[in-house]
Amino acid sequence: MGIDGNTILAESLKKQGVEYVFGIVGIPVIETSMAFQAAGLKYIGMRNEQAACYAAQAIGYLTGKPGVCLAVSGPGLLHCVGGMANAQVNAWPLLVIAGSCAEDHEGIGGFQEWPQVDSSRIYCKYTARPPSPRLIPLHVEKAVRLASAGRPGAAYLDMPGTLLMGEVEEEKVPSLYNAETVKLAHPDPALVSQAADLLAGAKRPLIIVGKGAAYARAEDALCKLVDETKLPFLPTPMGKGVVPDASAHCVSAARTQALLKADVILLLGARLNWMLHFGQAPRFDKDVKVIQVDISPEEFHNSVKSEVAVHSDIKPFAEALAQKLREKKFALPPSSEWWQLLREKQKANAEFVAAQANDTSPPLNYFAVFKTVQAAIPEDSIIVSEGANTMDIGRGMLLNNKPRHRLDAGTFGTMGVGPGFAVAAAMWCRDYAPNKRVVCVEGDSAFGFSGMEIETMFRYKLPVIIVIVNNNGIYSGFDKEVMDDIQADGDVTQSTPPTALSVQVRYEKMMEMFGETGHLCHTVEEIQVAIKAAIAVTDRPSIINILINPSSSRKPQAFNWLTESKL
Ligand code: ADP
Ligand code: MG
Repeated sequence: MGIDGNTILAESLKKQGVEYVFGIVGIPVIETSMAFQAAGLKYIGMRNEQAACYAAQAIGYLTGKPGVCLAVSGPGLLHCVGGMANAQVNAWPLLVIAGSCAEDHEGIGGFQEWPQVDSSRIYCKYTARPPSPRLIPLHVEKAVRLASAGRPGAAYLDMPGTLLMGEVEEEKVPSLYNAETVKLAHPDPALVSQAADLLAGAKRPLIIVGKGAAYARAEDALCKLVDETKLPFLPTPMGKGVVPDASAHCVSAARTQALLKADVILLLGARLNWMLHFGQAPRFDKDVKVIQVDISPEEFHNSVKSEVAVHSDIKPFAEALAQKLREKKFALPPSSEWWQLLREKQKANAEFVAAQANDTSPPLNYFAVFKTVQAAIPEDSIIVSEGANTMDIGRGMLLNNKPRHRLDAGTFGTMGVGPGFAVAAAMWCRDYAPNKRVVCVEGDSAFGFSGMEIETMFRYKLPVIIVIVNNNGIYSGFDKEVMDDIQADGDVTQSTPPTALSVQVRYEKMMEMFGETGHLCHTVEEIQVAIKAAIAVTDRPSIINILINPSSSRKPQAFNWLTESKL
């Protein structure tokens, strides 16, 4: 009996454990999407390939198996490029599959013809066009394996229409294995001993927990390590929740001082890139000793030389280290000078935040908004967040007490990821944690990139709570009088500030497209009422549009990180 490329592709994905496909169909992948559904894959049709690609990588991060992004040829694939780069930079598993121009039309101006394999190569760990339907299973296995193994990343498979439609005899299709999951890489015991000695001898030790630790599912081991050793820890943005933000040992509120004064840092699944100020002075002590643990040895000594570099999965390392420190009966006394200093800084920060947050006079500031949102949402919500001030201030105030419960602009600083991530997170909740909610906290500018995914959420009945912190602009905006004034005469292209967006846009009215109503808020009480109503809705998204003071901003920074030059 004959079997076509679409069916072989669908069954190969299923065999490799792929569960979700996010995409947009058109020629030549309509039949492909149907074959996916027939094979039992979950297909979620989205409105923009970029958002679909963000959704597919978020599901990869949440489940540990790459999600698939399905796109059409040419422009469809090219719209995925930002998503592929984001997955690769974030080190999240992703498999993009795009249709491409029929092979016999190549070179003569075929429909949406584009060198898609070449175009994808720099974004991916693996790219291929299977040479025949028979060889599809081999390339699917390899793409899934490479996207997931070692440091995760993106893979791309190119599927010409002729390949998808091509038929072969079923007996001729090799039935491919599903490779065994690679056993966790364990640390060299000698390096664990060195790490334990260094930490035990330190005056000001600090643990940094990165999103690699979240991806490694090292939460139990790390909670135990922190609990037993009483060491202060600092999560990176998406490392939040591996050890709960509410832990007494979390020093996020003293971040600047913790980084600056630490003499030994245990770096677990985080890179010393811009997010951690390259591990260099003036943000770090120039003599700080770093114990670096990573699944990817290429990462060691990047930017600064690590004192101890341990090639290991985070989980077995954390277990082995805890055992060593237990043998030494090591714990950092709460009365130590280091803890006293950190606690002082935490207190000062808490006082600053409380003073801002307690000013609830409208138009509201960011702090008052986040304090209210934090108090109103379920404690175990998955928080998706993007925007400039919205993400930065929200990171400190919206707590994560569970691992992999924060999805944000990430290492690449990508705006426009929010709605796609939220679709994926809500699908994951539906299948794996039915009562959990997704709260998508967006700046007004960030929401604009992929706002139309609200229709996707509505179509698939995903109860995402979208909170838009609306300040009329990028970074900050202008209020009505000022905006009217600056646009009053002359050429609007000359007078309109590039950071400005329209004033008080009624984003919540997008719910009216579906015959529903959204929420417009100016006050703390209105936010409380709106969130309560949104939580009660379980079969569709909600939009809560909060109009804030357009000149509200963050705490003045001790260091101007982006413009610190080393030239
Ligand atoms: P963050 O943004 O939190 O600082 P990064 O994305 O910069 O985190 O770094 C994550 C690191 O974690 C990467 O260097 C990656 O190789 C590593 N990593 C991913 N999975 C594992 C794992 N299972 N065990 C150890 N390290 C891992
Ligand atoms: Mg804004």
